Order: sequence, then C-alpha cells, then structure tokens
Amino acid sequence: MATLPLNQDAKRIYLRLMGYARPYWPVFLLGVFGNALFATTDAGFVWFVRNFLKDAFARPDPKVLVWVPIGAVVLFFMRGVGDFLSTYCAASVGRRVIKTLRGQLFGHYLKLPTTFYDREAAANLLSKLTYNVELLAEASANSITVMIRDSLTVIALIGYLFFLNWRLAAISIILAPLIAWLIRKVNQLFRRYSQRIQNSMGDVTRIAKEGIEGHRLIKLFNAQAHEAQVFDRVNELNRRNNMKLILTRALSNPVVQLVASIGLAFVLYVMIGMVLRHRLPLEDFFAFLTALLLTTAPLRRVVNVAAPLQQGIAAGGSIFEILDCQTEELDAGRPLDHSRGDVEFRDVGYRYTAENGEVLSGISFHVRPGETIAIVGKSGSGKSTLVSLLARYYDVTEGQILLDGVDVRDYRLRDLRRQVSMVSQDVLLFNDTIRGNIAFSVPAAPPAAIEAAAAAAHVTEFTDDAPGGLEFLVGDRGSLVSGGQRQRISIARAVLKDAPILILDEATSALDTELERKIQQSLDELMRGRTTFVIAHRLTTIENADRILVLDAGQLIESGTHAELIAHNGHYAALHRLQFNV
Ligand code: ADP
Repeated sequence: MATLPLNQDAKRIYLRLMGYARPYWPVFLLGVFGNALFATTDAGFVWFVRNFLKDAFARPDPKVLVWVPIGAVVLFFMRGVGDFLSTYCAASVGRRVIKTLRGQLFGHYLKLPTTFYDREAAANLLSKLTYNVELLAEASANSITVMIRDSLTVIALIGYLFFLNWRLAAISIILAPLIAWLIRKVNQLFRRYSQRIQNSMGDVTRIAKEGIEGHRLIKLFNAQAHEAQVFDRVNELNRRNNMKLILTRALSNPVVQLVASIGLAFVLYVMIGMVLRHRLPLEDFFAFLTALLLTTAPLRRVVNVAAPLQQGIAAGGSIFEILDCQTEELDAGRPLDHSRGDVEFRDVGYRYTAENGEVLSGISFHVRPGETIAIVGKSGSGKSTLVSLLARYYDVTEGQILLDGVDVRDYRLRDLRRQVSMVSQDVLLFNDTIRGNIAFSVPAAPPAAIEAAAAAAHVTEFTDDAPGGLEFLVGDRGSLVSGGQRQRISIARAVLKDAPILILDEATSALDTELERKIQQSLDELMRGRTTFVIAHRLTTIENADRILVLDAGQLIESGTHAELIAHNGHYAALHRLQFNV
C-alpha cells in the first residue's frame, strides 16, 4: 500500500492531476473567470456599502435612491453569472478528467501482468476504480473551484483593505503566517486520514465481494454471523477513520477562526483608538470593518475545502501508483501469423517470488507439431505453472521456451497468445449471450462460423431446446448454465479460435458418463492437428497421449509413453497404480 505522500509529492500529484485538465483549458479558464467574477462582487459589495453610507449620510445625494437598488441587482446578476460559470465549467472539466482517468485505469488493468494480480486483491482494484476516482472528481472540480474562488475573494478583500488604509491592513494580516501554518498542518492530517479511509474502503469492498460471491458456501457453513462479524470489523475501522477526518475538519475551522479573531481584536483596538482621536472617518471605519469581516466566510470555505482536496490528492497518489506500474507490451517483437506448434522447453526454471524458491527447475522436452502431451503429477508439482508459461502469463526465470525454434519472448505477445487456446475446468463466462461468449475469442467471426463452432462442441444440443437458442443469456459468470454446458461453451470458444496449440486442464468433476463421452468427443475433434498439452486425470487421455511428462516437486522425473513408463516401473507406474487402483 502507498505511504503518505509528502508535501513535495502532494504537489507533484496535484500538478499531474491538473495535467489531465489541460486539454480542456478554455472551459477551465471560463470557470476561473466565473470565480473571479464571483470574487470581485464581494469586494464590490464593500465598495457599494461605503459609497452608500457616504452618499446617504455623510453628503446626502438624491441619486442614491436610484443607483443603490439598480446597483444591487447588477451586482447580484454578476455574482449569479460567476457562480454558474464556476460551478458548471469546473464540474464539466472534473467529470471529463474522471472519465479519462477511469478509462486509463481500466485500460491499464487489462494490460497489467499476471504477477500484479497475484499480489493485489481484485476488490481493492475495483474500489480504486469506483471510490478513489470519484474522490478525484471532487478535488479536480468542486474543491479547486472553491479554492480559487475564495482565495481570490480573500486576496481581493485584502487588496481593498490595503487600498483603504495600508497601515491598518498590514496590522490585520499580521497573523496570516500562523494561519497558513495551521492550514498546512491540517492538510497533512487530512491526507493521512484520507489514505486510511481509502484503504479501509478497499477492505470493505473486498469482504463484501467475498461474501456476495461466496453466498452458497456461507449458507452451507451457516457462516453468516462470522462473515457479518468480519465485515463489522472493517466497517467500524472505516467509520473510525472517517470520524478522525471529521474531527480534524470540525476543529480546523474554529481554531483558524479563533486565531483570525485575535488578529481582528488587535485591529479593532487600533481602529477604535483612531476613531476616538478623529483620525478615521466613519465610512472608512465601516468599510474596513465590513471588508475584514467579509474575509472570514471565504477563509472558512478555504479551510473546509482542504479536506476533499487532500482526499483527492491521496486518491490520486494511489491511482498514479498503479498507472506507473509496468504493463505488458503487446505489440513489440517478431510477428507470428500461424505457428506450426513446435514447442521446446530448454532447461526451464520458474519461481513466483524470490522467497518461495523454484516451483519448476531444469525442465527440458521437445514437442513436435500435432503431438499430445499429458502432464501428470501430484497436486502442487507444478503442472499449471508449466502450461501457464506457454502463453506467457509468466516468463521463465531460467532457461527458455521456444516456439517454432524462436524464444517465445521474441514474438509479439499479441501474436503469441493467438497461437494458444485453453479449456480448463473453471470456465469463466461473461454476462452475455451464449453466442457472445463463444465469439469472445474472435469478436469479428461471422455468425456461420460461430454456429459451426457451437455445433462442433455440442453446444447446439442444449441451445436448440433453450429459449432463444444461442441468444440465451448465461447470467452473472454463467450461473444460468450447468457445469457441462459451460465447458462445452468454452470448447466452442477454442474451436472458433482455431489456435495451433491447445491447453486442456481436464475436469475431474464427475460429469455423467454420457456427457463425459460427448465432451471427450468434442475435445478429440478439437485436438486433431494441434499440439496439445493436457493436465491429465483421466486414464484414457493419459494412455492415448503421445508422451507423458511426470512432474514431481517442479522436476521432470520421467517421460515416455504409457507403455514405456509402466514397463519402467518407476514413479509413473506407482502413481498410476495409486490413482486407478490397478
Ligand atoms: P499443480 O498444477 O501441479 O497443482 P501448480 O503449478 O498450481 O501445481 O503449483 C506449483 C507450486 O507453485 C505450488 O507450490 C503453489 O503453491 C505455487 N504457486 C502456484 N501459483 C502461485 C502463484 N500465483 N503465486 C505463488 N505461488 C504459486
């Protein structure tokens, strides 16, 4: 998790955030103009009051009867236009910044390497996309508007104070450095608590996601109370962090205003002394006092806006941190149209993390185009890791993998991945039609090709009776279709993709024999003419494979045909006896 950004970093984050607003600078400037208009009207009111007092009391002038009411409307009109422009333009820029950032962040998620997803909880990434990005809207639009508007108001008012009486004005801002220091300290606290709130929001999302996705498991284990308790803990932490922020926020203004009032008291002392000695005219006294009192409201707003601004900076920090992570380069390297399917592992080693040690080591074998390789071994022996190296979900940490005689790392990643299809036991379906799910592998596929793939994978057998046929909606993560149907949809995907290399992670789940026979039939058709790696559990698959690789604790300990390995009477023979009771 990110650490608290220092002031220096905060500035950098803010500048980077404002960089996103740069393309919309005309709208932004219009917003700033609105702010300026709004700000000057406050100073305008003081000017207005002073002249009103002068013309109505000091040297009565009948014109005052006309220009004061008209002036009031004009001033309010200007104020209204300024208010509208500042609110609308800033929000318009803010929402565009959010859209860009959200799009960029999601685009980045799609290209981050698998190792990144191994480290980060999916729910935290979701929380960043929804909650954290939304906080940026507040910081890059509303808060900055208020900040500019009210800072300008304060500056305009102080400018007017100097114009009226520079000596008094100088006295009145004597405590300004102390106020600035206070605001700075408070900002640091805001940033610290915001970061904690965002982290705990990630936890809230994570636990909620687990609870929602695991609803069946929770029901079966009667674990509702336990889950509620776990949720309550993060929920409470979130509340407590929010309250710390709110406490700081609630205290910050009274403290700042108290300091300001001490300054005010000092000025009043000097001013009243001057009035008593007839050194300050009444209208100037009132004008000065009005302008001085008018600064308190915008000052209060500037202090108030610090919290959302700092929340935005903390959110920006966490988002930029992800945007700075290295993504996979999909388009660089050697193009590859259609591989022959010749795969060679040369002394391949892999470790997920330095601490965990080697998960695979010294793996060497050569697979000729069209061969079927069965990979067997105890759970945790490295079978899944081995096949995931082929599509470069992970890159070897030692040795190399060659496809058609070329290191897989030399190919364009996009092209390399086009050469590989995967059918595994847990099939991920999107909340779309069956047709859409099949066409996922080749979005531009003509309908006839999709239907042919559906037929080849025996999908049509169940869609012919289903309402809507191939247009049947599979529901969230395919919850409306059965395990066997899901698997057939995934086979149809692979048929449509027509890649020269096929990876099968065989289902161990007990499908009924009739269904198993059908799925096997579809798979046999799919495997024809392709180099196939099967993480094999079924005896028939193993026996029919051209070669069997036996893994144990990340080492390739035996390899050969079923007959050869049985004759060898080693590890495989023992595993075979154990698994199939022969
Ligand atoms: P198999 O498929 O034979 O069951 P795996 O390839 O899944 O074995 O796992 C091999 C080893 O690598 C295991 O010790 C497992 O704990 C570890 N492992 C698997 N996936 C990861 C991962 N994403 N990060 C860290 N370690 C992993």
